[in-house]
Amino acid sequence: MTQYVYRFGGGVSDGGAGDRNLLGGKGANLAEMASIGLPVPPGFTIATPMCARYYDEGQKFPESVQDEVKTGITHIEGITGKRFGDASDPLLVSVRSGARVSMPGMMDTVLNLGLNDRTVEGLAAVSGDDRFAWDSYRRFIQMYADVVLELDHGSFEEALEIAKEDRGYYLDTELTADDLRALVAEYKALVEAQWHKPFPQDVHDQLWGAVGAVFGSWQSERAKVYRRLNDIPATWGTAVNVQAMVFGNMGDTSATGVAFTRDPAKGDRAYYGEFLINAQGEDVVAGIRTPQYLTKVAREEAGAKPASMEEAMPAVYGELANVFDLLETHYRDMQDIEFTVQQGKLWMLQTRSGKRTAKAALRIAIDMANEGLITREEAILRVDPSALDQLLHPTLDPNAPRDVLTKGLPASPGAASGAVVFDADTAEKRAAAGDAVILVRTETSPEDIHGMHAAKGILTARGGMTSHAAVVARGMGRPCVSGAGMLSIDVKARTMRVGDRVVKEGELLTIDGTTGEVMVGAVATVQPELAGDFGTLMEWADVFRRLKVRANAETPLDCRTAREFGAEGVGLCRTEHMFFDAERITAVRQMILASDEAGRRVALDRLLPAQRKDFTEIFEVMAGLPVTIRLLDPPLHEFLPHEEADFAEVAQAAGIDIDTLKRRANELHEFNPMLGHRGCRLGVTYPEIYEIQARAIFEAAIDVAAKSGAAPIPEVMIPLVGTARELELMKAVVDAAARTVFAERGTTIEYLVGTMIELPRAALKAGEIAEHGEFFSFGTNDLTQTTLGVSRDDAARFLGVYVEQGIYAKDPFVSIDVEGVGELIQIAADRGRATRPQIKLGICGEHGGDPASIAFCETVGLDYVSASPYRVPIARLAAAQAALKAKG
Ligand code: PEP
Ligand code: MG
Repeated sequence: MTQYVYRFGGGVSDGGAGDRNLLGGKGANLAEMASIGLPVPPGFTIATPMCARYYDEGQKFPESVQDEVKTGITHIEGITGKRFGDASDPLLVSVRSGARVSMPGMMDTVLNLGLNDRTVEGLAAVSGDDRFAWDSYRRFIQMYADVVLELDHGSFEEALEIAKEDRGYYLDTELTADDLRALVAEYKALVEAQWHKPFPQDVHDQLWGAVGAVFGSWQSERAKVYRRLNDIPATWGTAVNVQAMVFGNMGDTSATGVAFTRDPAKGDRAYYGEFLINAQGEDVVAGIRTPQYLTKVAREEAGAKPASMEEAMPAVYGELANVFDLLETHYRDMQDIEFTVQQGKLWMLQTRSGKRTAKAALRIAIDMANEGLITREEAILRVDPSALDQLLHPTLDPNAPRDVLTKGLPASPGAASGAVVFDADTAEKRAAAGDAVILVRTETSPEDIHGMHAAKGILTARGGMTSHAAVVARGMGRPCVSGAGMLSIDVKARTMRVGDRVVKEGELLTIDGTTGEVMVGAVATVQPELAGDFGTLMEWADVFRRLKVRANAETPLDCRTAREFGAEGVGLCRTEHMFFDAERITAVRQMILASDEAGRRVALDRLLPAQRKDFTEIFEVMAGLPVTIRLLDPPLHEFLPHEEADFAEVAQAAGIDIDTLKRRANELHEFNPMLGHRGCRLGVTYPEIYEIQARAIFEAAIDVAAKSGAAPIPEVMIPLVGTARELELMKAVVDAAARTVFAERGTTIEYLVGTMIELPRAALKAGEIAEHGEFFSFGTNDLTQTTLGVSRDDAARFLGVYVEQGIYAKDPFVSIDVEGVGELIQIAADRGRATRPQIKLGICGEHGGDPASIAFCETVGLDYVSASPYRVPIARLAAAQAALKAKG
């Protein structure tokens, strides 16, 4: 019989950290902490496979599982000495979700479960604190009504507010035991009115209701959105953790808090966290009360008054610091911890590997390697290459004028400017229309997730560094300023205000998530710092990587950026991109629309100097490195004139009348331009185009070699080849141009001629194609399009559904379809090498900057990947990780 329930605590651990898939992250780590002797309240985990079974069986629980849960409860009762449902000394439990990977705020939690009209009296008697007991019951009904019964949350909040107002109170804590007793009665009436049944008094009914709700929350809309954004399969399911309650709200020797063993924003080696005296766990995360600092240093740095935990509770703080060190050494990673202090006794509620910014990920990985806690190889594997993106983007120019409106907490680093919006739907709409927006909320909740994703930055008026907004923004890599307490937001009026300054929706705002500053208007930015930790990690990565990394670049500026990021050459220079320039487009159109070779040559002669100048500048920047230049490729319609004025301009340049020109343009119309007259088909039909381009390349290369002595190595690339004969013909054109230029200049340079592999036929016939080509570069954009028979320009409309349905695991235009396109690449590589063992192999489609695709390139043994300049560092790190993983 399958086991579904796993116990922990009191010297028992049925599972451990290795059981994350089965027990979820939280369950596995609770079991692990219990097994290394840390103080964990006893409990049990209902394993993740139960989640799918719960749905399969019509949201019911099999009898065997009900028996297992009974045993689990007995386990907790045995250790705590309390009994579930006992009127004199009741056991209370928490019921929480816990998936394999953490999904902050996405899933449901119920606390204080086990309270009813009888047990509340027992709790009051045992604790000697009436107020505490009734407040716990009040909170329990409110949470249960919201999470399990799905009743209107607002009506309970309202009842609480009215109760305070009626009595002239400001804080919840002012409510007395009698006030709370009355409020509980009101809450129960609210439940009965909305649910048409009384609040459940049977503690076992309460438990099963809560367990079902947690499994149910796996299929909630917000959980689905979160999974989609984070590539989490629906099949994983969540586990449910049932655990004895401990109370941080039993007076001034009790507290609750969250902590990181190192700074999750900057990565510094300092304990970092927040706590609240006399509060229950959710109070910290919800951002309702502003928490206090953990350490004295942090408090002083922030200039805050309320005592830090180190000062207020020195003994427990000391114990906690020991636990931090023990956990870091045990897990060999930065930990994110939840704890509760109940009347002076420390309890650990959670540990997990802490989410961190890219900046912190780098710092922590490098520090831990230098501390000897992990190896350099592990340090490289620890940093998510895609997260480097966060570091490669601009920060605010320190010298730019700024009009600071207010300041909040620096919750997630980076700077962003955009139009102010006050709700997630508006953020999503305006972002879809191409606007940069800053989402401004009093506090965020999981319902805001789509708006946070769409926004360039997030600003909240309430909440600490571990509030929902802060945690989610850091995970998404969005700049965030939280807890800007001076800010008041009027969602109805669509305005926000600080003192007498008012900002309306749509006005520009800048936030700096590194300092917490909020500024009116847009502020100039500066390029990121590429030295420091970033440089160190890149150096380490370069030691371990085998794949070379080049850049897709066609302007000197792109080439310079690429070199700064460590590119080792250009893997794709798309020459047609050089033609969109206003000064050149007329000559290009004249060339395309010419009706004979003579007409084309006139236009080409006008283009030659411009092309030569481009190549010269690129060769200068890439001195001594290989530069792959692709001859003209695009579907010609991309260049055809559309406007009357454009036609007139071309007609004048070419000396023909507009009507003839329009007729010619009509003749060139194609039904499937992507499969039409493009790629080497242009060169085959109009060889003079490739001849002139090749001439420009060789003349520029010789000029640069003569001037600087560092001869570039041009690699002339023929696009969209499907047959060996096409390449043979085009290579002859290029070689002839080289011979002519070399003879004219009385000198030679080294160069290669090769082809892109972009068509299935080319992959299959790679053996013959390699007879004429000295290199292959996989053009995986077109190869994906032609292999899947999916238009790269139209795929967005339906591919989302394909990914949701699991037909493709990821968007195949982003991450290589290893099974299909990947097999063709493998075939082409094998057959190419069989003909020409030293053939140079690379990839220049968008996939060249995607870590998963780079891992695949490593397995095929390509020589290099080529990615857009900003993805070069990502590719360097991903290549090192791929090499390390291949080594095992
Ligand atoms: C490709 O097809 O992968 C490629 C790099 O060429 P382009 O994107 O210019 O068609
Ligand atoms: Mg292509």
